[in-house]
Amino acid sequence: MADEESLISTALADLDTAAEILNLDPSCHAVLRHPQRTLTVSVPVRMDDETIRVFTGHRVHHSYVRGPSKGGIRYHPSVTLDETTALAMIMTWKCAVVDIPLGGAKGGIVCNPKSMSLGELERMTRRYIFMIMPLIGPEQDIPAPDIYTDAQTMAWIMDTYSMFKGYSVPGVVTGKPVNIGGTLGRKAATGRGCMFVVLEALKHLGMRRKGSTVAIQGYGNVGSNVACFLQEKGLKLIAASDSRGGVMNLKGLDARKLVSHKEKTGTVVGYKASKEISNEELLELDCDVLIPAAIENVITRRNAANIKARILAEAANGPVTAQANRILDESGIFVLPDILANTGGVTVSYFEWVQDIASHFWTEEDVNIKLENVIMKAFKEVVENSKKHELNMRLGALVLAVDRVAAAFITRGLFP
Ligand code: NAD
Repeated sequence: MADEESLISTALADLDTAAEILNLDPSCHAVLRHPQRTLTVSVPVRMDDETIRVFTGHRVHHSYVRGPSKGGIRYHPSVTLDETTALAMIMTWKCAVVDIPLGGAKGGIVCNPKSMSLGELERMTRRYIFMIMPLIGPEQDIPAPDIYTDAQTMAWIMDTYSMFKGYSVPGVVTGKPVNIGGTLGRKAATGRGCMFVVLEALKHLGMRRKGSTVAIQGYGNVGSNVACFLQEKGLKLIAASDSRGGVMNLKGLDARKLVSHKEKTGTVVGYKASKEISNEELLELDCDVLIPAAIENVITRRNAANIKARILAEAANGPVTAQANRILDESGIFVLPDILANTGGVTVSYFEWVQDIASHFWTEEDVNIKLENVIMKAFKEVVENSKKHELNMRLGALVLAVDRVAAAFITRGLFP
């Protein structure tokens, strides 16, 4: 039985709550509780020392009712099938919240990428893609980057798939380098999308942009981009962290210089004019906007009551457990849920897939404008849905998403 605080139990509890609010048909509810497909594979890799190591990989399709499934591939020692399934389910809701015609998937390999050479990572990626080949394709399931996978990983995926097809298939994967069919604007898209919802939330709550304080856990791709964008809009970054620790300065940290420091040293720790704080302390800082942008389950029933932020924007997937959700709600914290706050990435991934299929590429400005339109529309619809059902933003977003997926399922009917 899944642990009470695990991501899968949180995801299922969320779905059950939405089903109750919507008075969802029990059969449809049962269908949505299960992934449509899961595949676990062995990935033998020749290591640099000539030994062969066997890694375990997963690919899960939660739902392809509204279109091909889509979701990232994660390389991390803590990857499990349960976690991958939960993340695939979250992807289904995410695509539905922003109303793009895709379903939800996720993949991962249990490994420690930090201890592997580039050659080992390439051989592992190519073998994993070969093993999950029956499940992926531009009309079927389109992977993307996630924790510790990047544009280079996506290039290897595109190349491996294309080699087996005998021709180039850029639409099999998104988050690729631009010179092989990637889109402009993808790298910063999740951070940009998160910035739009934070700015809308400030407006919605009648808070000022200028000087509002921000703390960010996880100064990686998403965390550092959202920090830079919010700083450009007048907000003040007061703390940031990564897996090695955190830094803070109540007078403000320079988000861009902090990026350069992390690029040079591999961590935010040691940044000048800052004092060190732990990841736990960062989450409990007195700030206007808290952005967990690292990993899941960092806000639990143990620390939820200590969160002092007015707005909590979930840039990471599932950073708050189900029990912690209830505590945050009681404290009146305005939570921007992951299925709204980090949809910038999947939205621009969708744009990349569209451009690949059409073989017609847009300017970065086009991409950013279209992204803003999609995210602003989603924010407005979530606010309206929350008001209609008298729910907080998390449930408002979830109910909107589940309703859309359930409606598609009911319209299509059950095969056979
Ligand atoms: P990344 O690898 O670029 O950055 C992750 C950062 O988190 C790194 O700085 C790492 O040091 C830090 N970190 C790891 N473990 C930590 C811990 N225990 N405490 C504090 N910091 C820790 O990854 P990313 O692409 O920025 O993704 C971050 C999160 O956002 C993930 O939850 C991911 O699923 C989610 N997300 C990413 C995208 C995207 O487009 N990249 C889209 C949607 C959601």
